[in-house]
Amino acid sequence: MSFWSGLGWCGLVALALSAPGQSEDAIPRELAREASLALQARKSEIEGSLGIVHEWVERLRAAGERKRALVVLKKAVAAAPRDMICQGLYAETLNDLGQVKAAEKTARWVLEHACEDRARDAARRVFGEPVRPVPPKLERSVADPIGIVLVALPPVEVGLVQAVAERLKGEFPIEVRIRSFPFRPLPQAERGSMLLEVGQHRARFDKDASESEVQALLKETGFTAEELRVDHVFVTAYRGWLRQTDRWKNLRLFDLGVTRQYRPQWSGEQIMDCTINKQIALVRRPQDILLLVTGADLFFTKDLGFNFAVSGNRWSVISYNRFLPWFTGEMPEWKKLVTRTFKQVLCSVGRSVGIAKCSSPRCACRYANGLRDHDAKTEICCPECRARIEAAIRS
Ligand SMILES: [Zn+2]
Repeated sequence: MSFWSGLGWCGLVALALSAPGQSEDAIPRELAREASLALQARKSEIEGSLGIVHEWVERLRAAGERKRALVVLKKAVAAAPRDMICQGLYAETLNDLGQVKAAEKTARWVLEHACEDRARDAARRVFGEPVRPVPPKLERSVADPIGIVLVALPPVEVGLVQAVAERLKGEFPIEVRIRSFPFRPLPQAERGSMLLEVGQHRARFDKDASESEVQALLKETGFTAEELRVDHVFVTAYRGWLRQTDRWKNLRLFDLGVTRQYRPQWSGEQIMDCTINKQIALVRRPQDILLLVTGADLFFTKDLGFNFAVSGNRWSVISYNRFLPWFTGEMPEWKKLVTRTFKQVLCSVGRSVGIAKCSSPRCACRYANGLRDHDAKTEICCPECRARIEAAIRS
């Protein structure tokens, strides 16, 4: 499996290190100290900067120190109840300690709210559910029937794409498939790069990382040295390097200064160029309707703050970024996220087959100028749009 497939920001961050069989002594004291400091951060700063606490807890769990892990997690979920990774770890740790009822209660709560694969998978493990399947890579396959192909484009929560694919099945007389994106990462984002902060860390990395550490990092992540020059790739890889080299203070400060606030934004043209026009062009079958679903933020014209999607002839790129709590300020709600994303997918299927805009007030294919408009639409295409989509699918 390529490094990119099936991994969102959190997945990437979570991937690098697990330490089976590690003894308590092997957990660096600095890690415990810095993680404790992270837990003491101001309320406005704590959310999104608990990566080091996740790390600490994972290591404690791997070392069999579940009770200690539980103590830390209790503090963490009290301080940042919306940190779903902590909540998922909390549920799993309760379960490991035989506190099944409390574990299931927390796990149910996580499944109601969390959008992160990592948190949802932890909750599913509490219920003994099977491991979520990794979608096959997108590749040219003439054996597949013509269909709607949803492609999970990183950064992405694959569980969300799978949930949306389930809702889409049976909607139109055409097969719905899900595939992972097997190509290189997105290029440098056109907007939103925190060059100053990232630059400071980059300078540290260039100075401190030994040649063998850099080589190990490239091997582990599958990135090229050139790709490391791209901010969002660097942000992910650098975190992995900090973890592997026990630079815990830097990791805490990095999360606080960069990870928590880093909101890169790609232009529609840029995404289209590097995916549809280049990487995907080689494997794409023109009859399929290709829907790239991503957590990356998107804008199309210079004057607009963001777009939910960009479409062309039988393809769309759909971003669910603006449905997430960082933007809406709402309590995370899984069903709401799935519904909003599904609605956008329906709208984008319409755009992909040439429906520019629908004037029917509640049709899913109506143009939405922002989240309020989007929420006001139904999850149903009006009869006219449906007929046009079905005709286009058959042609
Ligand atoms: Zn319509």
